[in-house]
Amino acid sequence: MLKVTLDLSCNVCGSDQFMLPTLADDVQDVRCADCAAFKCKSDDLERAMSAVHQKVPARPGL
Ligand SMILES: [Zn+2]
Repeated sequence: MLKVTLDLSCNVCGSDQFMLPTLADDVQDVRCADCAAFKCKSDDLERAMSAVHQKVPARPGL
């Protein structure tokens, strides 16, 4: 998991820091870094993740 600050706020505690899953993680959920409240699937944050990772994701079909 990767702790990042996003332009989002936790519905529970208002934190703007979230734990993002890496490609190696089995669970692809985004959770609040402070209270661990479920935020959303990482698919919804693909752009945020790509901005953080600065990596080319694995291509589908390879
Ligand atoms: Zn929270």
